Amino acid sequence: MPASPSSGLAERYRVTNGKKFKLHDIKPGANGGIKLKRDARALLAAGIARLSAAQKKLYAQDQWSLLLIFQAMDAAGKDGTIQHVMSGVNPQGVQVYSFKAPSAEELDHDFLWRTSRCLPERGRIGIFNRSYYEETLVVRVHPEYLGAQHLPPGLITKRIWKERFEDINAFERYLVRNGIVVLKFFLHVSKAEQRRRFLSRLDEPEKNWKFSAADVRERGLWSDYMAAYEDTIRQTATRYAPWFVVPADNKWFTRLVVAEAIADALAGLDLRFPEVDAAKRKELASARATLEAEERAR
Ligand code: ATP
Ligand code: MG
Repeated sequence: MPASPSSGLAERYRVTNGKKFKLHDIKPGANGGIKLKRDARALLAAGIARLSAAQKKLYAQDQWSLLLIFQAMDAAGKDGTIQHVMSGVNPQGVQVYSFKAPSAEELDHDFLWRTSRCLPERGRIGIFNRSYYEETLVVRVHPEYLGAQHLPPGLITKRIWKERFEDINAFERYLVRNGIVVLKFFLHVSKAEQRRRFLSRLDEPEKNWKFSAADVRERGLWSDYMAAYEDTIRQTATRYAPWFVVPADNKWFTRLVVAEAIADALAGLDLRFPEVDAAKRKELASARATLEAEERAR
């Protein structure tokens, strides 16, 4: 069955040249002009089907791998998006890692260490729920966190964020040159929608566990976080490792854009099932003969 084509929706939110990027240009409440739930559902199903078909080849071919990075304010929907978008994919081909506040062991290493250990194997999709980008987001908003990193004090200068961006860009170029396709997603939720979602975490007993007082404190620093996100995207959106700035006030739309972005990226690779050579064909024929002989002997 031929795969349905991309709707081209994800492209609108792809940033490959950070210099021109302004966060203000992306509206968290956007819905791509899709009015009917039914149309949204059909598009999401098509995106997930394309993704699932491509992932089978990715895994079998065992050459490329895909690194998906998710960053967002709390309650923007990282977990739900990962769950829905990956719902059609064989779990054996996917590796998900969540990065929380760093442990004492992690703080005793360079800032790329803990994520480097979790990079996807060839043929796999690796998902980072938060990532080394926390360094230019939460740590930038709370520069006092640098104090816990055991850095030689002379290295903590005004230039540190510029240096972090250079190091991240160089690291991602290295990954891409090694056959790891890097896609970065910022789920862009509005402050008003975050408030609604926090309130529903308080109202609904089943969601209480998700609520954390610390999240409300960070919300108080909203404009600092938005400035840090904007600068991070401006400094690290490249052709080889694009950011997708995904409107996140409508969960269904977020999922749709993310599924399409991943499916589009996979469609751009030369994914093929491994070819069966003459020796392998002989092996298959001989296996068939053995199995058929079994049936005749009964
Ligand atoms: P999430 O908030 O991602 O849904 P969670 O609520 O289960 O997950 P938390 O315990 O809140 O997990 O962990 C995430 C917190 O860890 C965030 O506040 C994040 O900013 C912080 N964090 C992640 N990486 C770093 C880092 N390198 N330095 C400091 N704080 C970090
Ligand atoms: Mg949290």
